[in-house]
Amino acid sequence: MATALVLERTRQLSIRDIDLPGTLGPNDVRIAINTVGICGSDVHYYTHGRIGPFIVREPMVLGHEASGTVREVGQNVTTLKPGDRVCMEPGIPDPNSRASKLGLYNVDPSVTFWATPPIHGCLTPEVIHPAAYTYKLPDNVSFAEGAMVEPFAIGMQAAAKAKIAPGDVGLVVGAGPIGILTALAALAGGCARVMIFDVVADKLETAGAYRGIVPLTPAGGDLTDQVMAATGGWGADVIFECSGHPSAFTQIFHHARPGGCVVFVGMPVAPVGFDVVTAQTKELRMETVFRYANVYDRAVEFIASGKIDLNPLITETFAFADAVRAFERAAEARPTDIKLQIQLPE
Ligand code: ZN
Repeated sequence: MATALVLERTRQLSIRDIDLPGTLGPNDVRIAINTVGICGSDVHYYTHGRIGPFIVREPMVLGHEASGTVREVGQNVTTLKPGDRVCMEPGIPDPNSRASKLGLYNVDPSVTFWATPPIHGCLTPEVIHPAAYTYKLPDNVSFAEGAMVEPFAIGMQAAAKAKIAPGDVGLVVGAGPIGILTALAALAGGCARVMIFDVVADKLETAGAYRGIVPLTPAGGDLTDQVMAATGGWGADVIFECSGHPSAFTQIFHHARPGGCVVFVGMPVAPVGFDVVTAQTKELRMETVFRYANVYDRAVEFIASGKIDLNPLITETFAFADAVRAFERAAEARPTDIKLQIQLPE
């Protein structure tokens, strides 16, 4: 039995004891959880009880953006030791699957992912996790930053998919946490500057405080016009759709330069329309992102290097005892909230 933050059903959370499966295998580590970030997907399960085909049918522990301290290692584990501070990839693929063999373990159909029903998440004092998906945090990376590696990894995946060339001009549509983290990854990945657009001006304040990130709002006029004005009429080299909003998709190709790239990161709730001919006439390259594969090491390196400071994005930290209140606050979706985190007792 363990204490955990349990989603009982839509709109009902409790902190209670629950039986969590798991024994320490030879390649696993036992980790005391320190910090867990609240993700949009956690909030969506809380408010809607489902995301697409994933439906919460049984009480489920929430949380998948985590850092902690290794307490015990399995007999084959040589890369980690008790006391190591770590962060964890929440998805565990089947290493023998066809997708994993191709290096595409994020799209392994048999992947199990924390807090994606029916798999329990990590808002509980202790988890058992494969050492291969557990990453040591350098001394200068805090637990709070360690819990930001998961959402940052999505931005890293998007930047990698864009194949940014040094000096590229980027555009991010949607300034939620993933939009801002994608903008930071694109900048660190070689963009000279990254414009970021959102209809809610408040969301852009923190983003705009980063050197190299240029906020755009509807107050500046039509988005394509703003992008063209900022690029000498040429368009953005790399575009990241991070809003998931249907209206963004119809116009997205207009913002791109000929031969540019559009990466789809945000997930619209229903199928959306594409202006195929606009994409064709510019021969745009299109990429999609689903979570991430093989980027955690590099995400940790970037944070440790000081090139990426994720601390300004952490709006507030709640004690585990206040986890229900933290989720209620997240569900309010205040425009000034970027990332809320929950800290477990030592
Ligand atoms: Zn997340």
